[in-house]
Amino acid sequence: MSAHDITLSNVSRFYDGVAAVHEVTLHAPPGKVLALLGASGSGKSTLLRLIAGLEPLDGGEIRFGEQLIANARGAAPPEYRRVGVVFQDYALFPHLTAAANVMFGLDKLAREDREREARAWLARVGLERRAGAYPHELSGGEQQRVALARALAAKPLAVLLDEPFSGLDPVLRAELREMTLGVLRETRATALFVTHDADEALYVADNLAIMKGGRVLQAADPRTLYDAPTSADAAAALGPVNILGGMISGARVATPFGAISTDLQEGAPALAVVRADAITLSPGQRARVTDRHPQGATDLLRVEADGVIWRVIASARTAPQIGAQVDVAIDPRGAYVFLR
Ligand code: ADP
Ligand code: MG
Repeated sequence: MSAHDITLSNVSRFYDGVAAVHEVTLHAPPGKVLALLGASGSGKSTLLRLIAGLEPLDGGEIRFGEQLIANARGAAPPEYRRVGVVFQDYALFPHLTAAANVMFGLDKLAREDREREARAWLARVGLERRAGAYPHELSGGEQQRVALARALAAKPLAVLLDEPFSGLDPVLRAELREMTLGVLRETRATALFVTHDADEALYVADNLAIMKGGRVLQAADPRTLYDAPTSADAAAALGPVNILGGMISGARVATPFGAISTDLQEGAPALAVVRADAITLSPGQRARVTDRHPQGATDLLRVEADGVIWRVIASARTAPQIGAQVDVAIDPRGAYVFLR
């Protein structure tokens, strides 16, 4: 199977005059996982439906490789696109066994070949013993494994996964995520993985696009996105941040916890944005710890200075107690200034 890349140029989709997807330009490279991260309602599912061919475009175009697949004037039908889909609530056929569900997409093969292929795919997702089970006899996680096997068995050129594990508990979710990544790497299909969970997005992504209000705020590899966000919203999408308005003065924006350097326009109104994990506390006088919540390896603290409260992530073993007086050091690699 040779995967192709998917290119969206200025793709828009409106419902009753309101843009659900607005001029999205995005490139999914072949054989890689592109994660789409955004809050509920940001247009992620609509974007996947446009790529799958389940809805018409109102603007822009979609190409698979060089080939034009859809624009506002028309679109290739879904079955022509060779795209596999796994949706959170994409039900299996209830009257078919797991094996028959997987065989469904293999109608071009002879019967024995279909059966052998289906069993091989079920084995790949760890379900060889449940081939004869019906969907209602399978757990949620097992059903999603069957859905994944069904999507991949047809040898799609691209796989679209829409919050595939959202309904599952965290342990099972981590396990299935790992398995899915393994299978995707093996098949070298181009994958789009939609999630509203920042940790999940960072984990699965070769490349990551952050969506808000139907637009792509920023797209890059996960490390670049984390270290060099281009907006306060993009920074906030990947983890807790502190945001404070101010003015650029002397190539800095002042905060009660320290100044953030910038080479943006002097005198302009700006936002200082500091990741909660870019702050180090030490015994001192500048600020006071007002709250401390254990999260496991780290604690989430609240620290107050001059009436401003910031969130700080600190190692649980060394974090200061509530009420402690502290000094604050800001790591410039996790501190940004954006124009307002
Ligand atoms: P997400 O998957 O990121 O939660 P969606 O793509 O489902 O977002 O929805 C994006 C926006 O489009 C939302 O405001 C939603 O209410 C709206 N929307 C989605 N589908 C339809 C539809 N079929 N008819 C009208 N509005 C829709
Ligand atoms: Mg959705």
